[in-house]
Amino acid sequence: MAIRNIVKIGDEILTKRSRKVEKIDDRIITLLDDMKDTLDKAKGVGLAAPQVGVLKRVVVLNIEDNYWELINPEIISASEEMVNDIEGCLSVPGKWGYVERPKTVTVRAKDRNGETFELNGSDLLARALCHEIDHLNGELYVDKVSEFVDPDELEEDE
Ligand code: ZN
Repeated sequence: MAIRNIVKIGDEILTKRSRKVEKIDDRIITLLDDMKDTLDKAKGVGLAAPQVGVLKRVVVLNIEDNYWELINPEIISASEEMVNDIEGCLSVPGKWGYVERPKTVTVRAKDRNGETFELNGSDLLARALCHEIDHLNGELYVDKVSEFVDPDELEEDE
């Protein structure tokens, strides 16, 4: 296992569409392990493979001590109810902004054993799922922000 370098905004790879994983081989397992280490070290909520320079449809999430690995994730349903809340990204350091996301989403994906599962998420989990799946489509949250937040103001609120 290893910590990988996180690609930052401005790198073309973040704007490219990731390819579907056709076969879960040793390289994908190593990628998952490394992404977990990288996310842990960065103390992040989520990480998508293109953020470590790999254009594969792989995402890891860590929210409140729950950890998920998603291979080829797809949003299969989303609530009409939207929530406008603050978002950030490990590839866009030092910035936060308000983005509207569905309150709940259901995602279908495969785990590292190739088993298909469905994940229902609301609030932060729904937001993180949408954010990471956007990465797989070459989309960054900064293009969806309604208003950026001054990081100094954020710290004062805490
Ligand atoms: Zn991100």
